Amino acid sequence: MKKMFLFLSLFLLTGCIPEPEIDIDGVQQGEVYVNDQTINIDEEAAGEYTLHLNGNVIQNDHTVSGNGEYELTITAKRWWNEITKTIAFEIDDEPPAKPSFKDEVKPLYYKEANFELEKEEDVTYKVKIDYEPFDISQAYTKEGTHKLYIQSIKDNGLVADRKETFEIDNRTYSRHEVDAFKKFFFHNEDQEGTKFIKWSDHVGVHVYGEPTATDMKALESNLQTINQILPVDLNLRESQPFAGSNRINVHFVPTYQFKDYGFNEELRNNDYMVVGYAMPTLLTHDDELFETKILIGTDTDQQLRKTTILHELMHALGFYGHFENNPNSILYPYTDTNLTELSSTDKKLIEILYRKDIKPGMTEAEVEQTLNDWIVK
Ligand SMILES: [Zn+2]
Repeated sequence: MKKMFLFLSLFLLTGCIPEPEIDIDGVQQGEVYVNDQTINIDEEAAGEYTLHLNGNVIQNDHTVSGNGEYELTITAKRWWNEITKTIAFEIDDEPPAKPSFKDEVKPLYYKEANFELEKEEDVTYKVKIDYEPFDISQAYTKEGTHKLYIQSIKDNGLVADRKETFEIDNRTYSRHEVDAFKKFFFHNEDQEGTKFIKWSDHVGVHVYGEPTATDMKALESNLQTINQILPVDLNLRESQPFAGSNRINVHFVPTYQFKDYGFNEELRNNDYMVVGYAMPTLLTHDDELFETKILIGTDTDQQLRKTTILHELMHALGFYGHFENNPNSILYPYTDTNLTELSSTDKKLIEILYRKDIKPGMTEAEVEQTLNDWIVK
């Protein structure tokens, strides 16, 4: 019987003393928190316990605050059973940096665009082009205008993002066309200083005075041609629009009335007679065209007037100056050419001026550098 009793008491001792348990609320292994965290241990389950945070004793319900890496060591003991657990966690309330690139995103690319992100530690990046996920280690080659969206996601869950627009434009220029552009803007005796002024939004074309049906037909067909090249549209407007919109005012009036419309120079001298006139009348603070005036002399020959309309429209696009020695261009200052169409070089000049990366204040070298990828070698 005595043996039996010992056996039973041994059974009791091993079976009835519960193991200590470590049950922690507030922090978890490997987590990164944005806010303060309060550490709570289930005292009942733990029995006799100690809590150390980065080596210092803390009490139950201790609140951890401040950015940093933390290590919580818990020991729990019940009679001779002792267990230990370690929980590493971090508090970090800093958001990730706004995504940035090794080279800034350019407005225009030839054939392909490559983007390289400046990567931060503990940050993952989600990239989308035109709302579709994109692997940024690849080159992007689809022609047209695109939206690039990058989101930085830090391991604390905070995010930052960035949106860019870029274009892949594969239209090329010959050496001759680029040289003509540079000659016009940087070596033009008619134009003091070089300014790239252009329209940045759609333009209403308002006609005043007494155009003939032929004048209107010429004007409309010229606008159509120009609109195929421009990133903005020039549209004839019938009604009086509100004053706050981009506009070209075209006045069909006899040349002797030009003085009433702000033309203060001689109409005639030995060499020439003025038949048309164009001048920008309002610019925005960013040197964008806002209002331009065109005068077309109605007391001139109809055929000549067709040339004049196109010539003055070309000025109104931002080409203030002439090609004195190039009768193939509509920017030739005399009407004896009877030109009624833009030359292929004229079209390219418009195309170049209206590129997003051709900006006011650029030097000739900067223009050359900017166009370099597009010049056919
Ligand atoms: Zn002119």
